[in-house]
Amino acid sequence: MKHLDIREVLHSEELRGKEAVVCGWVRTYRESSAVAFAELSDGSDFERLQIVVDRAALAVDPECTKPGAAIRVRGEVVKAYKGEGNELNAREIDLLGKCPPEYPIQKKRTTLEFLRGIPHLRLRTNTFAAVFRVRSVAAQAIHRYFHAHGYYYINTPLITASDCEGAGEMFRVTTRPWNAPEKTEEEYYKNDFFGVKAGLSVSGQLEGEVAATALGKIYTFGPSFRAENSNTTRHLAEFWHVEPEIAFAELPDVLEIAEDMLKSVIRSVIEECPAELRFFDQFVEKGLIRKLTSVAESDFAVCPYTEAVERLKRAHADFRFPVEWGCDLQSEHERYLTETVFGKPVFVTDYPKEIKSFYMKQNPDGKTVAAADLLVPGIGEIIGGSEREADYDKLVAAMKERKMDLSAYEQYLALRLFGSVPHGGFGLGFERFVMYCTGMENIRDVTLFPRSVRNIM
Ligand code: ATP
Ligand code: MN
Repeated sequence: MKHLDIREVLHSEELRGKEAVVCGWVRTYRESSAVAFAELSDGSDFERLQIVVDRAALAVDPECTKPGAAIRVRGEVVKAYKGEGNELNAREIDLLGKCPPEYPIQKKRTTLEFLRGIPHLRLRTNTFAAVFRVRSVAAQAIHRYFHAHGYYYINTPLITASDCEGAGEMFRVTTRPWNAPEKTEEEYYKNDFFGVKAGLSVSGQLEGEVAATALGKIYTFGPSFRAENSNTTRHLAEFWHVEPEIAFAELPDVLEIAEDMLKSVIRSVIEECPAELRFFDQFVEKGLIRKLTSVAESDFAVCPYTEAVERLKRAHADFRFPVEWGCDLQSEHERYLTETVFGKPVFVTDYPKEIKSFYMKQNPDGKTVAAADLLVPGIGEIIGGSEREADYDKLVAAMKERKMDLSAYEQYLALRLFGSVPHGGFGLGFERFVMYCTGMENIRDVTLFPRSVRNIM
């Protein structure tokens, strides 16, 4: 269908005085005796294109005036009567698809919760269309950042046999019926598709290390799956995970890369999505633009875990979970640190080894590991990263302490036998980052079809 994007028609000065065809969905339609105005959206731009109808010259099919109806308009592009952009003086309007009054997206502002019940239509609202335009711009900016900095884009397997960290959190992959006849678990898996227990990957990191210790700098950007049995506003069963892995890098390098990447992507979002951000600033998170601008321009804070715990213990706050050295930080603690103590993004580093993964580099103190989580206001953790243990013996010792089955990690361990190098990386939860950029408070509202416990619409 030959037509132009509304984004182009709205903003192009060269098109003025020329004829253009646009397609879209009617957002509003109002008429007086002489003229009628339709606001048309095709998703390409935050702004809608105003269609002006000279009623004496053009009779409009009433179906073309209904909110939600899909139409095609041919007309002359002219400078808008009000504002900067252009509008279209209609010469011909065709109906593409009518929209009956049951259409659930109505003009009065409906709640996010109501819209969650109609995931197939909610992108037709300003809010959701804006979220997904920002999401797309952010994704492109992430790829651009890594490409420009010499990283290779790697695709790691989604089906995996390594049970690594995600013991309880792993979704199983099977072709076996629920009433399989085998009497033992071992036999059951032996007869399964892969001949062993398999599941959906919780992270591409271990395979990412394989690629990084050959290509130097790599990243993955794909889905991870976690059977989290928690119903929070920050967890999904299926989320998108950005995981760079860098050879010849130590923890401070990892922090520097994470900070530089986030700032660069935030700058892209500020540049490419001004109308979306103005909207979010006005209706979703007051001060959002100021927040993003200052984050892009100032340094993130860094705070060792031990100091973080001291600060939390001194805090005048009513935590539900008490804080002691050795405990995992709860969301309330993370948010207190980043919102109240530092008032900006903060890397918490050097966590107790007991609460972190086996592969993290052990610090000389014997108690902590070279890990770093990035906490941001409004959300808490958006990045988890570390320098990896590159010493074969130390890694094996850590795995034995955790009673892990070493035979399942022969290949991973081999990376420490053949030219082992200091290396590290991090995982960014892409949806959490989109929440941060838009101010949306529920991860379900930045995902097309969110999957979580008892929810697979
Ligand atoms: P949390 O403590 O918030 O559950 P985590 O420590 O289990 O997260 P990591 O294993 O460090 O998460 O994963 C790296 C990043 O992936 C996290 O910082 C977060 O941004 C994102 N992430 C992890 N789990 C989820 C999830 N279930 N849904 C969405 N994003 C997630
Ligand atoms: Mn983490």
